[in-house]
Amino acid sequence: MLQDSPHLPIWKAMLLAGYYGVSLPCRWWSKARAVGEHRVPIVVLFYHRVADDLATPWTLSNRCFDRQIRWMADRFDLISLSEAQRRIRTGDSARPAVCITFDDGYAENCHKAIPLLIKTGIPCTYFVTLRNVLEQDPFAHDLARGYRFLPNSVEQLRAMAAAGVEIGAHTYSHPDLGLVADEQELYRQIVVAGRELQQWIDRPVRYFAFPFGQYANLSARGFEMAKAAGYLGVCSAYGGYNLPGDDPFHLQRIHADEGMIRLKNRVTVDPRGARVHRFAWAPGASEVKTAMDRV
Ligand SMILES: [Zn+2]
Repeated sequence: MLQDSPHLPIWKAMLLAGYYGVSLPCRWWSKARAVGEHRVPIVVLFYHRVADDLATPWTLSNRCFDRQIRWMADRFDLISLSEAQRRIRTGDSARPAVCITFDDGYAENCHKAIPLLIKTGIPCTYFVTLRNVLEQDPFAHDLARGYRFLPNSVEQLRAMAAAGVEIGAHTYSHPDLGLVADEQELYRQIVVAGRELQQWIDRPVRYFAFPFGQYANLSARGFEMAKAAGYLGVCSAYGGYNLPGDDPFHLQRIHADEGMIRLKNRVTVDPRGARVHRFAWAPGASEVKTAMDRV
């Protein structure tokens, strides 16, 4: 089915399908070259809510999620964030690979989506906003649209962690950290929230994802704090692919909850997306090169 998300208009889906078809030879050629050079871009996806009401643009149906996962499982190594970092760090990425992550922490994800990943042994990192979990309070971005979706419970997080899902931190109250200048508040949202989450689930919390994750929502000081606090990696969400030789601490992620054709277009490395600039959180020439320079 071409249009499997009501948030992607049919005309857009058709244009995208045409673009995907026309650019496939270019993608195959780039992929063959990257495989030969062991420099295949690593794709890190992020989902939010998998549920069948398709109420928001950050909701994907269970059917489409199932299709996406099966389609990717046939074509990519589905790997953990730590394996992605290993490939980036060692500079050896010989096979197309995708990481699955989720943001926020919606209770409905535990109905079918997370059980599917657990059953099929597909690694997943699940970033949660602690206050919403502890207070069982719906997310502000859903309340603004009149929805009161239930966040995950601590019990659900513990069960996921016990089944092998990596639970990550996504702040205490989901603020735009690009606007937080106060050091103490930044520390509370990034470091304290992660440590508290760790105590609640009784497992190490090793990764952090910035809320919203666009350039303007990131904070270089926040990256420094996360690194100093012992996080193994930090995720953004403005798009972009991760290449061997990039900074393995910063994983650039790509939106995945907009239907099948958009996912296919993105995970097979859209030549347009390869030009995304990395957020430069620390001095270092490697962080401001474009991905295209090295594809
Ligand atoms: Zn979020």
